[in-house]
Order: sequence, then structure tokens, then C-alpha cells
Amino acid sequence: MNSRSIIVIGAGVGGIVAATHLARRGLNVTVLEKNAHAGGRCDRFSRDGHHFDAGPTLLVMPLLYEAEFAALGTSMHEMLNLQRVDPTYHLVFDDGSRLALTSDMRSMQEQLEAFEPGSFASLIRYLDEGHRHYDLGMERLVSRDFRKPSDFFKLSNVPLVFQLRPFTSHYRNMSAYFDDPRLKSAFTFQDVYMGLSPFEAPATFSMMPYTELAHGVWYPKGGMYSIVEALVDLAQRAGVTFEFDASVERIRVNGSQARGVILSDGRHLTADAILANADLPYVYGDLLPHCPKGRAEAKRLARKRFSCSVISFFWGVDKAYTNLPPHTLFLADDYRDNFKSIIHDLGLPANPSLYVHAPARLDPSMAPEGQDTVIGIVPVGHMSENGGQDWAEIRDEARRHVFRRLRTLGITDLEEHIKFEVNYTPLSWKKRYNLMKGSTHGLCHNLMQLGYFRPSNKHSRYHNLYFVGASTHPGTGLPTAMVSGRLAAQRMLDELDLSF
Ligand SMILES: Cc1cc2nc3c(=O)[nH]c(=O)nc-3n(C[C@H](O)[C@H](O)[C@H](O)COP(=O)(O)OP(=O)(O)OC[C@H]3O[C@@H](n4cnc5c(N)ncnc54)[C@H](O)[C@@H]3O)c2cc1C
Repeated sequence: MNSRSIIVIGAGVGGIVAATHLARRGLNVTVLEKNAHAGGRCDRFSRDGHHFDAGPTLLVMPLLYEAEFAALGTSMHEMLNLQRVDPTYHLVFDDGSRLALTSDMRSMQEQLEAFEPGSFASLIRYLDEGHRHYDLGMERLVSRDFRKPSDFFKLSNVPLVFQLRPFTSHYRNMSAYFDDPRLKSAFTFQDVYMGLSPFEAPATFSMMPYTELAHGVWYPKGGMYSIVEALVDLAQRAGVTFEFDASVERIRVNGSQARGVILSDGRHLTADAILANADLPYVYGDLLPHCPKGRAEAKRLARKRFSCSVISFFWGVDKAYTNLPPHTLFLADDYRDNFKSIIHDLGLPANPSLYVHAPARLDPSMAPEGQDTVIGIVPVGHMSENGGQDWAEIRDEARRHVFRRLRTLGITDLEEHIKFEVNYTPLSWKKRYNLMKGSTHGLCHNLMQLGYFRPSNKHSRYHNLYFVGASTHPGTGLPTAMVSGRLAAQRMLDELDLSF
């Protein structure tokens, strides 16, 4: 083991992956995590035999996972017991019509033609575009490091301006394929995963519906937290030390160097380099020194665009709703107003689109026999600057909408069968994981916060302070956090003299 020591602040997916890459290269790595276990937003809790994935519920972009597990010296299929979810989503529209998104193209053809004659041929064209965007986006934007301007602003990247359609909004681009607004929403709602409205997201994001249909949406046995368990296992095998209930209060600096950290229990720890996985705007605002320059940097980050938040309901129910599909999305007709209410007014739409997850349909062990585990997720605005939102009131309104929507599926008695409820509002996201503004996906992914324009994986002044995670390059999502971990670790190894 090399005597050089690295401190990683936070055991989110990006932090664990970066720590593992560094430990595999012989460095002495300690991960300090404020919570009692690893995973960050990819969290889990259990009660009375009901198991809840508190954050991610969808394993998307499996090829990216495969590549990142391979970079860690193993195989995704060895580490995870995966099943493909098909149909991926059951979409329910306000008029009662339904669409099951599936990779079974015969079924898609039948369903789409009933919505809009000729739309199946349009879907094929749309997926073709998504395929191009996916291949180019992964190769040229997601998996690459942008350490200096010339890594991004180079002649070979110029065609991307035409190929990835970054200046056309995703929703506007849909007019080239579908007329029916239900179909336009069916293939753009995924933008909310990037914290964006399809009315402002670049058309580049057609890569998401493409990968979901072409590469599939998957589910690991035991739920999404098994990804964290697999990663922690790899980290420990590589020699990473985890300290839980270890909240970092300050990063100590001296001149252009980060020296170590001060923990909330008063301990001072030193390290040769530091990698912060906690949410980037929070790191600048709360952990770094408040010198005038530091304050200005923190302010600049806090002023960037943040993604939306969500209110999540976790219900243990004493009845099994076997007709409730694993992933159901209720998409509202007033699609544009929905995004406006969330992103610009920072509130809850009058008729919100929402998502219901029933994990026991995929893995019966997620609920006791004859009972069910149900998660309702309602997108809402992030916390406002002035703290003017009444989250208890918004939460209660959101809950009513979930029950109202479920009634349209014939599920009229869920409320009566609830044994217990746990709920998270933006205040919970902020408190649990130190996410600025309670924004579940961190900085959003509009054009000015993507690629080279996204905050980099390294501090500009402290030469041995690096960053990893959703608000840094390449961005939000579990597989992207794994990419971020690999890129940040590699950059650290390339730039610092961490040899004996
Ligand atoms: C509701 C929800 C649904 C999602 N759905 C999906 C999905 O279906 N599929 C998908 O791929 N992605 C999804 N995501 C996104 C995905 O969960 C995140 O992008 C990813 O987990 C972020 O990882 P990260 O590396 O940024 O670390 P984080 O998860 O942000 O972890 C950072 C860690 O740092 C710790 N920390 C913070 N401050 C300190 C401190 N001072 N001292 C010590 N430790 C500290 C935190 O406790 C946390 O454990 C979802 C996210 C949410 C919230």
C-alpha cells in the first residue's frame, strides 16, 4: 500500500467509485460519510418487511454500467442479478388512454397507430435520431474529460452542433415526428431526469427514450440499493476504508493546497489530496473557506440553474395490488404548464404528472406476502431563496393527487390499506444529503451547464482538491456518477504526484 492518503467526502455512488479506482492504484483511501450507511441519494430503508428504494428506481443506460463495472475490473452481470423490465413504463393520459412502452415493436406499432396513424414509422425515425444522439453523446460528451478549453473547443467537435441538435428544444423537435401531444409527451418526459423541461432541454436528449427502448430498463434483484452494495463490496476488496456518521464540517486549506478536513466531532484529519462527492454547490457554500474569492465562487454556483425536486411517498400497504404495474406514469394534458409550475414558479402544478412504483411486481421479496410496497413520486419545484413554500401543504396536496390518479386505474382503496407512510419533501432531500435547495438532481443540464460548461472535477485554485458527483461533469444519474468517479480519480492520478 502507498503511504499517500486520500480523503473522499461522501459515500455516494460517485465517491465510492472514485475511491475504488484510487485504492486499486495503491492509495490509502478513506471515505467519510455523514449518514450511517453508503449510497447517498441511491438510498434504501425497510420497515415491517417492506423495502423501499428511496431514490433511483430505474436502471437505465445498461451499457454505461457495463463499461464502468469493467473499468473496476469486474462485470455488471457478475455483480448484479438483473431482469429486464418490459414494458418499461405504463403511461396513463388524462383522457384515460394508455400506452405501454415496450421493446416489442409489433405491440408498439399496434398501440401507436391507434393514437395517430403513421406514428409507428415516425417512432422508428425518432429512435434512429436517438441512436445517433446516444452514440455521439456518450462518446464525445459523457465519457470524456474536459480538462482545458481545447479539449472541447476543437475542430472535430464542430459537427456536433448539427449532429446533436443542441439549439433545438426537445419538444419542438417532436413536431418533426408526431402531432398527437400524448405521443410528444410519451417520448420527452424523461427530460425530467435531467432536471429539465422538454421545452428547454436540447433535442440531444432523444438519446434517453432511445436507450430505454433499445438497451432496456432493468431491475436488480433486491432493488436499486444492490448496486450500492456491489460497489461497496468492490471498494472494500480494493482496500477502501469507510467511516460512517462522520460529517465533514470544513475543508482545511493553506495557500493553493487542501490540507485535510475538520469533522463535526472536532477531529482534524490530514490527507495528500481530497475528493469531495457531496453536492458541489454545498461544498463551495459550506465546506470551503469564506474568503472573498471563495464567497464569490460559492455565490456564482448557487446562482446557476438547479434541477427540480420531488415529493416522495413510501407506503407499506396490507393488500397486494397485483394489477398495479411496476412503473406507472400519469402524464397530464397541460404538459407545458406542468413544467412551468415546477421549474419557473417552483411549485406544484394544478394537475401534476406523477409516477408510481410497485417494486414487488419485479421482486416479490420487496413486500411481505399478500401485501404491497408502493412509492409515489410527484415532481415539484426546488426550495426557493426566500423559503416561502409551505411544504406540508404542498405535500398533502401532492398526496391527494396520487390517490386521485390511482383511482383512474381502479385502485380506489389504497388509502384505507396503508399501514404506514414515510414521505420526503425538498426539505428532507436537503437535510439527508446536503443537497442545495433540496434539488434532487443537483445542477440542471441545460446547454450552458453541459460538457465543458459543467463545473469541472477539479478546483481551480486548490490543486489537490477534486470533485465527483451529480453536479459535476458529466452529470446526474447512477451510471453517470460512476463515469464521474472514474474521470475524477484518473485526473487526480494524472495530475498529482501520488507516488511513494
Ligand atoms: C428521487 C430520485 C430519483 C432518482 N432516480 C434515478 C433513477 O431512476 N436512475 C438513475 O440512474 N438515477 C436516478 N437518480 C439520480 C441518482 O440517484 C444520483 O444522480 C446519484 O445517486 C448521485 O450520486 P453522487 O455521486 O452525486 O452522490 P450523492 O448521492 O449526492 O452522495 C453524496 C454523499 O455525500 C454525503 N455528504 C454530504 N455532505 C457531507 C458531509 N459534510 N460530510 C460527509 N458526507 C457528506 C451525503 O450524505 C451523500 O451520501 C434519482 C435521484 C433521486 C433523488
